[in-house]
Amino acid sequence: MTIPGPPIGLLAELTHRCPLQCPYCSNPKALLKANTELSTETWLEIADQAADLGALQVHLSGGEPTLRTDLAEIIAGFARRGVYTNLITAGVSLDRDGVARLATAGLDHVQLSIQGARAETTELIGRFKGGHERKCTFAGWVREAGLPLTINAPIHRHNIGEVAEFIDLALALDADRLEIANVQYYGWAYLNRGALMPERDAVARQVDIVEAARERLAGVLTIDFVTPDYYADYPKPCMGGWGADVITISPDGTVLPCHAAMTIPDLEFERVPQKTLAEIWTGSSAFNRFRGTEWMAEPCRSCPRKELDFGGCRCQAMAVTGDAANTDPACILSPHHDMMAEIAEAESRTTAPDFIYRRIGAGTA
Ligand code: SF4
Ligand code: SF4
Repeated sequence: MTIPGPPIGLLAELTHRCPLQCPYCSNPKALLKANTELSTETWLEIADQAADLGALQVHLSGGEPTLRTDLAEIIAGFARRGVYTNLITAGVSLDRDGVARLATAGLDHVQLSIQGARAETTELIGRFKGGHERKCTFAGWVREAGLPLTINAPIHRHNIGEVAEFIDLALALDADRLEIANVQYYGWAYLNRGALMPERDAVARQVDIVEAARERLAGVLTIDFVTPDYYADYPKPCMGGWGADVITISPDGTVLPCHAAMTIPDLEFERVPQKTLAEIWTGSSAFNRFRGTEWMAEPCRSCPRKELDFGGCRCQAMAVTGDAANTDPACILSPHHDMMAEIAEAESRTTAPDFIYRRIGAGTA
């Protein structure tokens, strides 16, 4: 069995509640209600346990984490222990004082998602009237509070033509970093895959735009690029390896090796506070199932890249091939790779179906 080192970070999903309804959301189709959420006290205990385990950073996420009225207290709990705090937010729920309060509590960084470079696209995707203007105002308050700002732009067929405008917007909002993130198909995004899949040519055009901008804006704006798996030749090193770097905690305290791990049916997950993070990190069967490289079959087992990408994403292998232990079909060496590319080509050329917007009950009808 692979013995894990300390986790680098924690993905703390504080709530599944969200004022937006993005069809690309990676939250599970069965969204958890507010009355299942962990208490403030438990999150503070988690902060201590994470720091004791050696975690260096926490990503405070959701749903929309700013809907938790105890967010400043939770941030202070992590900050007290020297854990770097990153808030991942849609930026429509806090006012100026709220942003300042989080900064005072010890917040280190803000990642703001913007659904379109144009107001009408942001409203179409998030289904929140006036959302674009509120996000832009929010970005100003973040900078005013002295916090570094990353703009996250989730890319799909409805906004892939706006990549150049996203770059201009990030500059106008004085962001330090822009993440052009091609949508990954888990949870609600998987349900909406046909509505979201871009065409191969559009993907190639955005790569050119991003590469040119990276060169032009070196030292001014850092641009990260999350490649689209369905048109890739090799997979990403998902989560830095299963159970290697990150612990995800869902709003009800279920502890996961990755935020989509519940899509793999035969895994058993444990929960805080019933068990400690340290017990789960080293002993959980779900964390150990795909840890390291011993679980791999061919072609990964004998592949020289296996320590680079760890066989890719287990949840994508599950979703596309029906077996989480298979090589990620994003890999050109996978026997399912052609099938994945064909899915992308076929779906992207078909008229986009209507979105199934993310809200309780919508994905189960
Ligand atoms: S992707 Fe959209 S709907 Fe999902 S949590 Fe983020 S802002 Fe909310
Ligand atoms: S065969 Fe496995 S280890 Fe090799 S590149 Fe493909 S996914 Fe990575």
